[in-house]
Amino acid sequence: EEDPRINGIKTKIRVVPDFPKKGIMFQDITTVLLDPKAFKDTIDLFVERYRDKNISVVAGIEARGFLFGPPIALAIGAKFVPLRKPKKLPGETIFEEYELEYGSDRLEMHVGAVETGDRALVVDDLIATGGTLCAAINLLERVGAEVVECACVIELPELKGRQKLKGKPLCMLVEYR
Ligand code: AMP
Repeated sequence: EEDPRINGIKTKIRVVPDFPKKGIMFQDITTVLLDPKAFKDTIDLFVERYRDKNISVVAGIEARGFLFGPPIALAIGAKFVPLRKPKKLPGETIFEEYELEYGSDRLEMHVGAVETGDRALVVDDLIATGGTLCAAINLLERVGAEVVECACVIELPELKGRQKLKGKPLCMLVEYR
């Protein structure tokens, strides 16, 4: 039932306890990138899902959404738009703020990169509380794009991040409990 490639990907994710601080089980996807088969399978699974969905823009979230978003965008013939941390983008930007455990952060997007009528796929490595993806969805919707789906390699289902996605579907490959 589950695609046989998924278990291969799962075995390549390195879980690092107490990084970057005590109590966090950090899901390290750099070990997936070290394995060309697992990396290719990850990209292929998303490309197979999205190639016929008329996606016009893949929006990747800094930083690990920049590793998976561009190869997906190239393969499905969509543009790639980076959603970045504050003060990285040189042009005119709009931003959305989101809450962290301590304080807040923001995502910025270039004005003009995404237009009314664009059909967007949002890509990141992992969904935890869903706050980051929610900010991304809000940025895209503010400029008139339709968010078709969010795609992550890993979901931490116990944090119920899906509930923050404003009804948008989430596609993930690996659950970590
Ligand atoms: P959230 O906004 O709570 O859904 O957090 C998702 C963002 O934080 C993603 O960009 C992830 O890369 C990062 N993140 C959160 N928790 C983890 C974790 N346990 N392991 C790796 N990355 C994480």
